[in-house]
Amino acid sequence: MLAGTITERLTLRGRPSCACHSDPPRRHGPYWHWTRKVARKTVGGYLSKEEARECQRWIDNDRRIRELVSRSEAIGIERLHPSQRHD
Ligand SMILES: [Zn+2]
Repeated sequence: MLAGTITERLTLRGRPSCACHSDPPRRHGPYWHWTRKVARKTVGGYLSKEEARECQRWIDNDRRIRELVSRSEAIGIERLHPSQRHD
């Protein structure tokens, strides 16, 4: 599993003569970029198309597992409630 997000990007490059600066622009890409906040800092990098596809699966797993955990926690709280004592 993997936390974070993948965004698809189209980019401009440096050389003004390149087609990406024409009107209408023909941008480079798409490129896939993964980012994740770790201890308030954003880490990330560019991915190949294949990596992006695999990462997206891991991110989906991450989301499913988090959902399962929070649902399980809710069930735990519900189950505990009948035996709560107020004395
Ligand atoms: Zn260009």
